[in-house]
Amino acid sequence: MFLRKLCRGSGALNIRTYSVGVIDKRPPKILITGGLGQLGVECAKYLRGKYGRENVILSDIIKPTTEVANDGPYIFADILDFKGLQKIVVDHRVDWLIHFSALLSAIGEQNVPLAVRVNIEGMHNVIELAKQYRLRIFVPSTIGAFGPDSPRNPTPNITVQRPRTIYGVSKVHAELLGEYYHYRFGLDFRCLRFPGVISSDPPGGGTTDYAIAIFHDVLRKGRYQCYLKPDTRLPMMHVRDALRALSEFLEVPNEKLNRRVYNVTSMSFTPEELAEKINQHLKEFQITYQPDSRQDIADSWPQVFDDSEARRDWQWNPEVDLDNLVSLMIKEVKEKIAANGY
Ligand code: NAD
Repeated sequence: MFLRKLCRGSGALNIRTYSVGVIDKRPPKILITGGLGQLGVECAKYLRGKYGRENVILSDIIKPTTEVANDGPYIFADILDFKGLQKIVVDHRVDWLIHFSALLSAIGEQNVPLAVRVNIEGMHNVIELAKQYRLRIFVPSTIGAFGPDSPRNPTPNITVQRPRTIYGVSKVHAELLGEYYHYRFGLDFRCLRFPGVISSDPPGGGTTDYAIAIFHDVLRKGRYQCYLKPDTRLPMMHVRDALRALSEFLEVPNEKLNRRVYNVTSMSFTPEELAEKINQHLKEFQITYQPDSRQDIADSWPQVFDDSEARRDWQWNPEVDLDNLVSLMIKEVKEKIAANGY
């Protein structure tokens, strides 16, 4: 249905490039931008397991560790350099683009001009690129795309979005631009609004990072000072669920999607509730609370995320609950500390 509509809309359109993995029966060639952040490296591992090592190219503007370089293809890609991106797509015959590059909420507030460049100008580049080369493009959005005027418990898929951070503003811009390119040009734009994603890798400067830092500090120092108040409820998800959601969503046939942007989540908890769960595994640790500017950001964000549309349209179903998350994180962070000392 979608393919037919596209063909009518633009005569010169090449169907094959839109239908990789469906008509071609060859795995898609995937480029991940901003791939050396919290999500990129794990995402590449996950997708390489599914589509083959050589079919997933990780990219960023920073130097990879030996481990990352040995894990599969890695290249330099600055999302502010349009011609450079064109060359990569052509040289590597890219089919799908996973656009992770961004300055996150707390970091974005510290350097607004850079956040505008990376999050907004960068988005202009990748969406034009995807349009020119008929790429399927995935752009993650966030609970930060909502603001104090949005209903917070629960926050539905469609509601008021008036974020108060440059990060949130840039993500609403990305959502709207992607939808516009979809309806105007037939672009296969896909977007999931993630809650705080929890993994043992160092986080990139977001407001939900406390739920990662607490494991590292408690395991290394036996104490943690939290920058949010004990009763600050935020939606969260273990990275395993986040990557599974991304991967399943990328495969959903277009005719099943009623939207291009979906909320997804697994759970919601407060720092106090998380600390209580950790306490069931580790008896001796101290937690203190010293709220900073991130408290204002958290107070404007959803507390409970309504992902019923994703569950209905493409059967999204989280697997990692709070008990599992705590067990997994203790195990994974211990391994990381033993291997790297951090
Ligand atoms: P991160 O901050 O850890 O990584 C972002 C990466 O972008 C960095 O490695 C950085 O070097 C790269 N980058 C910066 N400028 C660039 C440029 N000019 N060209 C190319 N790359 C550049 O972010 P993350 O936590 O891995 O998040 C990935 C994506 O997922 C982001 O778009 C973020 O908004 C979204 N997201 C993340 C979370 C979360 O909890 N981690 C939650 C919701 C949404």
